[in-house]
Amino acid sequence: MSMRGIVIHAPKDLRVEDIATVPLEPHDVRVRIEAGGICGSDLHYYHRGGFGTVRLKEPMVLGHEIAGTIDEVGSGVSGLSLGMRVVVNPSRPCNECRYCRAGQRNQCLEMRFMGSAMRFPHVQGGFRQIVTSDEGQAIPIASTVTMQEAAMAEPLAVCLHAARQAGSLLGAKVLVTGCGPIGTLAVLTARYGGAAEIVATDVSAYPLSVAARVGASRTINVAAEPQALTPYAKDKGTFDVLIEASGNEAALRGALEAVRPGGIVVQLGLGGDMTLPINVIVAKDLQLRGSFRFDEEFRLAVDLMGKGLIDVKPVLSQTLPFERAVEAFDLASDRSRAMKVQLAF
Ligand code: ZN
Repeated sequence: MSMRGIVIHAPKDLRVEDIATVPLEPHDVRVRIEAGGICGSDLHYYHRGGFGTVRLKEPMVLGHEIAGTIDEVGSGVSGLSLGMRVVVNPSRPCNECRYCRAGQRNQCLEMRFMGSAMRFPHVQGGFRQIVTSDEGQAIPIASTVTMQEAAMAEPLAVCLHAARQAGSLLGAKVLVTGCGPIGTLAVLTARYGGAAEIVATDVSAYPLSVAARVGASRTINVAAEPQALTPYAKDKGTFDVLIEASGNEAALRGALEAVRPGGIVVQLGLGGDMTLPINVIVAKDLQLRGSFRFDEEFRLAVDLMGKGLIDVKPVLSQTLPFERAVEAFDLASDRSRAMKVQLAF
């Protein structure tokens, strides 16, 4: 049995082709995928064949933001049934290593993350018509949540994890640098977390307009107004929390000046290696914190959307049929007109 899926062979070599169905184990379900969101990491594979030390070494099905309907259940599955609408959690920690046992499952030593080339053989991704997943990875969604929204659970979970890394945001002044889908969802999450003021920066007008729609108090185009953050650096800085979502060294450097002494810096954006002004971090007692993927925040994301407490709809910009994958990936790469581009399967 075969189906169609989106396979990256090499940089700029993305193909829609037949792929084999994975056998159904007793604790697996088959999900007929309906929506799949293109993530920054998918774009890294598409444009450059990977990021950092993570490199494509064999053809890989991309995608890890996927939702659909259960089509088949294994003999040992309980609690899930045919026709259920679910979002697939792309992370599958081992639950046995020292980090899993310590409650840091996002740091699992044997993590199998869909559509990731971190391991070899690579873990194949979810941009395919049918995904076979462990029953624990298929999370039912509320009837009020569309498939497109459900497919946002993964990036939302990433931002909920970043908010958790930041600590309480209640009443905080928050600076978010970089307003791609992750930065924009970080604005949304900071607003939900009770931030009093959220300033969002980017180098492009369109993403800033979306950030404003989801709750930024002020947006700054740092390409057009390179000095606009300077007033916030007065008296050693203004912001209690910086969420850095651009992965850009210049953005981080500029933003550090605007964080108050004792402030918290959550680095969420991944780019190349950066050189940091360590003297600023030391002299202002700043706390630099990383944020990688998510764990239980995935279920929280599904829950918050289901209860109508977080609305991700403004972040969804375009949907294309999966057969037009190359066009969709090029569109998702155009920050002047695309936020979250999704594929319809
Ligand atoms: Zn583990």
